[in-house]
Amino acid sequence: MPAELDKIRNFIDGQFVEPVGGRYLDNIEPATGKAYSHVPDSDGRDVELAVAAAEKAFAGWSHTPTADRSRILLRIVDLIERDLEKLARAESVDTGKPLSLARGLDIPRAGSNFRFFATAILHTESEAHITDGVAFNYTLRQPRGIAGLISPWNLPLYLLSWKIAPAIACGNTAIAKPSELTPMTAYLLCEICREAGLPKGVLNVVHGTGPNVGAAITAHSKIGTISFTGGTVTGRKVAESCAPMFKKVSLELGGKNPNIVFADADQDAAIAGSLRSSFANQGQVCLCGSRVFVERSVYKDFVDHFVEKASQLRLGDPLEATTDQGAIVSKTQLDKVKFYVDLAQQEGGTIALGGSSPEAINERCQSGYFFSPTVITGLPVSCRVNREEIFGPVITITPFDNEDEVIGYANDNEYGLASSVWTQNLNRAHRVAERIHTGTVWVNCWLVRDLRVPFGGMKQSGVGREGGDEALRFFTEPKNVCIAK
Ligand code: NAP
Repeated sequence: MPAELDKIRNFIDGQFVEPVGGRYLDNIEPATGKAYSHVPDSDGRDVELAVAAAEKAFAGWSHTPTADRSRILLRIVDLIERDLEKLARAESVDTGKPLSLARGLDIPRAGSNFRFFATAILHTESEAHITDGVAFNYTLRQPRGIAGLISPWNLPLYLLSWKIAPAIACGNTAIAKPSELTPMTAYLLCEICREAGLPKGVLNVVHGTGPNVGAAITAHSKIGTISFTGGTVTGRKVAESCAPMFKKVSLELGGKNPNIVFADADQDAAIAGSLRSSFANQGQVCLCGSRVFVERSVYKDFVDHFVEKASQLRLGDPLEATTDQGAIVSKTQLDKVKFYVDLAQQEGGTIALGGSSPEAINERCQSGYFFSPTVITGLPVSCRVNREEIFGPVITITPFDNEDEVIGYANDNEYGLASSVWTQNLNRAHRVAERIHTGTVWVNCWLVRDLRVPFGGMKQSGVGREGGDEALRFFTEPKNVCIAK
């Protein structure tokens, strides 16, 4: 990593600046367990500076012609693509995910997010309603002002760009807070935005902890729009902070997603898809299918083949090309995973695969945070391990006897983010999709994303939807103009 990147700085009013308090936190590389850079430990004073910059920039940016905003965002895409390798490496080092995953998925998708919203704003429509003989109404959609954008550590650039792109494309200015565990790609994105000619103050990034920076953003009276992605417990705090000020809030929260395999499914496809949905990014994707339900007549075969395939996943140094499974993001997260694997055994589960940290990966990764892909069978559907989000490479597999039973299992959970259904029976696919309480139902696939579709969770997985028109609506204020005839 180049020396000048050793100390990450905040990006406020188009400048890289030290945090006001002068304090920094260690930025740990999960694969080695060692600090490799420093990240600002900012606080409310830095947020105050960002608000001043964003407020100043709003008048100009919100009146910048759409085509010009679009052009700048498209330049950001070009620079993301130019810097793909640098960004992918930074993402891999910061998060512990395999470099191949960052290069093949996370960073290209961040570019796609900017491209999508850069072009979407060129094709928006506005409604008009004629009130018989009385009036003519039309809807103005105007940018809302300063948006606060708070994101987690698992897909740092992808999720942050999913918020930044629509917010600024619509003419808002933004204050973003990445997770302090994974700040590097947001830092590099600021360099890109500056080079792309984004006017100063349009995007401000304040690094630091949730309690110091995140809470200051949600509590600030001049930040009227909050888009938050993270855990359900934190989401509740964000909602509590925003409610008294009636802020417009979008919450994308946790999941405990069911992955349902019927006996009539293409079993090879179901196993390959379930392997990805179980262990992609070491299971640290909110959409991962951590509860696998398999129809009893194929249950034993499924478990045998699934375990065999999962045991072939290569756990290793994230920077090595052959690695399928990298490191867990932090020691805290690794301890959480271990806690749930212990709990699974207390709750009567059988470890069919994994269940522990591997022997040392290589010399560089001796103190890294690794955990083997883990498969647990024999647990009751109602136990804690089957109800609570673990967010790691740990899944359970449970047999079922019929459609009604498995729909009951799938829905008997406080989360409702996503689900997968594997079946060759078209009628069943439609029937089950309609009855499952999740914001997304994938049939015979997983993680297929079309940026035009609404994205988000039901129940405690969130409030509101992001993606496509939903995001353009979220980041604008509809105003009805009623003209008498
Ligand atoms: P988290 O602990 O809730 O943190 C998310 C973000 O909120 C971080 O930037 C965090 O800062 C900040 N934060 C913490 N306390 C805050 C407060 N009081 N006010 C405002 N912001 C605060 O989540 P995480 O552990 O980073 O991420 C994992 C969770 O995200 C999982 O539950 C996963 O399911 C969920 N997730 C959901 C989606 C989705 O689209 N639904 C996508 C990805 C992840 P710190 O880093 O300093 O704590």
